[in-house]
Amino acid sequence: MTPLDLLDIDASLSEEERQIRAVVRQLVDDRVRPHVAGWYENGHVPARELAREFGKLGLLGMHLTGYGCAGASAVAYGLACLELEAGDSGIRSLVSVQGSLAMYAIWRFGSEEQKQRWLPAMAAGEAIGCFGLTEPDHGSDPASMATRARRDGDDWILTGSKLWITNAPIADVGVIWARTDEGVRGFAVPMDTPGVTAREIRHKMSLRASLTGEIALDDVRLPADARLPEAIGLKAPLSCLTEARHGIVWGALGAARDCLDTALSYATTRTQFGRPLAGFQLTQAKLADMAVEWNKGLLLALHLGRLADAGKLRPDQVSVGKLNNVREALAIARECRTILGANGVSGEYPVMRHANNLESVLTYEGTSEIHQLVIGQRLTGLSAFA
Ligand code: FAD
Repeated sequence: MTPLDLLDIDASLSEEERQIRAVVRQLVDDRVRPHVAGWYENGHVPARELAREFGKLGLLGMHLTGYGCAGASAVAYGLACLELEAGDSGIRSLVSVQGSLAMYAIWRFGSEEQKQRWLPAMAAGEAIGCFGLTEPDHGSDPASMATRARRDGDDWILTGSKLWITNAPIADVGVIWARTDEGVRGFAVPMDTPGVTAREIRHKMSLRASLTGEIALDDVRLPADARLPEAIGLKAPLSCLTEARHGIVWGALGAARDCLDTALSYATTRTQFGRPLAGFQLTQAKLADMAVEWNKGLLLALHLGRLADAGKLRPDQVSVGKLNNVREALAIARECRTILGANGVSGEYPVMRHANNLESVLTYEGTSEIHQLVIGQRLTGLSAFA
């Protein structure tokens, strides 16, 4: 129980959910917290090593069933995302992309052979996956993607490029989305296939403890069985995004909680004008407003998680959660930074790192504007996308 839990939301979690949360929190305390500031500063993270450890604990594809996956509830998965992102958004991204994007796509749309080939290894963290939808010229509008897949006899030939792809520099398999004569289709592409190259994107000022890459596809020849047979049209990748966005609804609250915990502790120990910062009304107003927003965000996440577990969660409801919780988490991170004064900009404290990370989280998996348009369409019945 944390003092932040103003509404006793903890009491509405099951014993199992609390246990899973405790295990992930411990893992983050042991394996992430002591090192993450250095990983962030150096722009390097031992992703393979971490993936194996996460795999041992059943965190990769944990909400999927069979093929070595843990079959946990959506709420348990959300709580795991929250704890991972309390460590760093980049660490949660590693797990989200692996489980909710790459593994989910194969699990939901793949053939039995593809599932057998990839999922047990990915669940164990022995194989890393990435998910290539965004392109240099097509981000929010993936329907306009330029990457092409054409038939050559029984084979497929893939040509194009994907940009800003998490895990790409170390991935063993890429779920790549391409336009065909019949519409958008997905492919499970072994990343060592001739013609595939993945270049790491350096110099990010955000999500530095996460590997991001550009994938070039230069006449990549794939056998017919590389295509995900059940993935028909753009709704296939979009359904993967819905899965991952649900994790982000929770995850962003983890980054915000870590900022709030840091600010609370700082404000109670740092003295100015003869009293702790926490004793000033202006500081308490900041802390109170942030804690209220955090609790509202957790209620929202829990409601969406329970809907997901009941099989009733709609994509536009996930947009409500992603829009609100990431936006509020970023606002909390920035406000907490002010409470730490100059120390707020130092890497000795996690707050600025979280704030910088949340800038990426605000943009990926649908920007805030795109989620506003989704909600606007739900409210008005009018699409304002184009
Ligand atoms: P654009 O689409 O060019 O948008 C620029 C701005 O215009 C935004 O503010 C946007 O909201 C706004 N805008 C666009 N269209 C409209 C509209 N119709 N109305 C109003 N405003 C609009 N992608 C993947 O496929 N796989 C990954 O693993 C992945 N990982 C990522 C990791 C990181 C660190 C980052 C930063 C991005 C990642 N992405 C990934 C890409 C991400 O999903 C895209 O950046 C995102 O979809 C936005 O696309 P864009 O950057 O091209 O921005």
